[in-house]
Amino acid sequence: MHYEGNIIRPPSEANSILLQVTVGCSRNKCTFCGTYRGERFRIKSDAVIDADIAFAAQHCRRQRRVFLCDGDALIIPQKRLMRILKNIAANLPWVTRVGAYANAKSLKMKSAAELQALRAEGLGILYMGLETGDDETLARINKGADADTMVAMGRKARENGFKLSVTVLLGIAGRDRSQIHARETGRVLTAIDPDYVGALSLMLIPGTPLQKDYEAGRFSLIEPTEMLAELRTMIAHTDLSSGLFHANHASNYLPIRARMPKDKDSTLELIDRALAGRIQLKPEYLRAL
Ligand code: SF4
Repeated sequence: MHYEGNIIRPPSEANSILLQVTVGCSRNKCTFCGTYRGERFRIKSDAVIDADIAFAAQHCRRQRRVFLCDGDALIIPQKRLMRILKNIAANLPWVTRVGAYANAKSLKMKSAAELQALRAEGLGILYMGLETGDDETLARINKGADADTMVAMGRKARENGFKLSVTVLLGIAGRDRSQIHARETGRVLTAIDPDYVGALSLMLIPGTPLQKDYEAGRFSLIEPTEMLAELRTMIAHTDLSSGLFHANHASNYLPIRARMPKDKDSTLELIDRALAGRIQLKPEYLRAL
């Protein structure tokens, strides 16, 4: 397979065939993100993508899922993306689901009919980075969309048949807006009603604008217990019809896996026990990105 630069994928795609169809991220401006910094966004050539699909047809026969890397493969023009999906279906017939990252911009650019066509061709799950539902924080981190747009685009993905996984970032609002961030994110998650929510804990990445803000004293990094208090408020304000809320990423201090709405109360109790010091949090040295 031809891989260039940093290859990232959601934790749930760990066993998927990682097919890199773009290099970098078309936005590449979020202040906390260092994944594709310095990388010029481009779509890989049809010849390279075709060669990788042919390779997977030979060597990846036991993997049932494909994940389209990098940052936001949904930004690929419709005709080319349909070609990639058709090629996957024709050459990897054992694959049951294709996934990709999507952002508000790429979802906005696709019509409902286009999204349905992609869905019919096998694209089954989209991963959207919300980070926060707080408009002020969204503007501060330069996410490129406000909360209303995030809700509209998340719902658009759901209404056109996609499974939707939304990522939120504990600590991203700093200390001054921590609880506002938690409440507003719960409100936005409730409005989107995704299938999955993944809560990650912020880790500062060297070289990013957020790291520079931290060093200059313009951004405050909250403590593990404050992150947990933020998570508690977020979950308390989140009502999903049947989604899975998890905070089990390696960077999190307390692993959480809650099927909503049935596990909501017990999860809040678990967090309360941890906040009261009756459950030990993951030590700092065991955290990783
Ligand atoms: S957070 Fe996502 S959209 Fe923002 S720069 Fe990083 S990869 Fe791109």
